[in-house]
Amino acid sequence: EAKRHGGNTYRVFVPSYRAVADSRRDLIRDLREAIQTHSITLHYQPIINAQTRQLAGFEALARWTHPVLGPIPPDRFIRLAEEAGLMHDLGHALLDEACRTAHSWPHNLWVSVNISVDQLYHRNFIGEVRRILKETSYPPRRLQLEVIETIFMESDAATYSVLQELDSLGVRIVLDDFGKGYSSLGYLRFFPFSKIKLDASFVRDMLSDSRSAAIVSAVIALAGDLGVAVTAEGVETEEYFYRLSSKGCTEVQGYLFGYPMSQDKVASFIAGHFRRVPFVNQSTLQS
Ligand code: C2E
Ligand code: MG
Ligand code: MG
Ligand code: MG
Repeated sequence: EAKRHGGNTYRVFVPSYRAVADSRRDLIRDLREAIQTHSITLHYQPIINAQTRQLAGFEALARWTHPVLGPIPPDRFIRLAEEAGLMHDLGHALLDEACRTAHSWPHNLWVSVNISVDQLYHRNFIGEVRRILKETSYPPRRLQLEVIETIFMESDAATYSVLQELDSLGVRIVLDDFGKGYSSLGYLRFFPFSKIKLDASFVRDMLSDSRSAAIVSAVIALAGDLGVAVTAEGVETEEYFYRLSSKGCTEVQGYLFGYPMSQDKVASFIAGHFRRVPFVNQSTLQS
């Protein structure tokens, strides 16, 4: 497209609809291949008990480095996988990988895996979770599944029954990104989540904005009254850690404690952590 301005001609590159559609189609093709060849892997980010400062577990986060385009953000390729109907296969492979990896960690540590809406409502999701747990002989109690509130777009009955079935397998269910969307408190009444994760956007603003700080305090207090643990996301400095810890937050996650790391770095991270912060009380890690 050319724009005329004061006699000069500016050429502005506007990709045609066709070009966009082609590159999207190429990316989906590459994504499908990456799933088949297991080139999408998990990185693991530590989550720390906010009261004892001990390592509690890790969140598994998907990573894809495209051979030409380089790293593609997970938000993007997860959405693409959903749109292309590939999320079921991808999610299955990642859950399997997470259970196999976490199996070798010390027994007091859990792994938390993000589950997309697509996966949750796939006809045999429960059967597959059960099968993965069995095949990997991974203890259900050490598995957390993180879901976001868009799962509540389905009928209440469908949502309730799938969450209930997971719960009865002994798996813990975590409500991720609390505060990012509508975050109706009704969700907490509707289903007994084990934990809610306070979205990083609240955490980020809590030091500069008294309203955000008030909301953080209220969510932590409410969760405490309901007997639900709270993990604060996006904790990048000691000051955030101190504030959250003194408000009674259960766990913290963020660059202050570690970036998401590849599977082979986890073992030395764990060893280093337990050298610095000796293991004291297992019951504090059970939240
Ligand atoms: P999420 O589940 O809320 O994951 C937390 C995100 O915050 C991760 O981004 C993590 O790298 C980032 N993060 C952690 N600590 C800090 C910090 O201190 N500061 C900042 N600025 N960011 C921090 P990431 O890895 O890019 O993942 C983005 C989102 O993609 C995830 O958000 C999740 O919704 C989705 N995702 C990632 N892996 C998977 C997966 O295996 N399955 C599904 N369904 N979704 C996934
Ligand atoms: Mg998450
Ligand atoms: Mg989150
Ligand atoms: Mg998120």
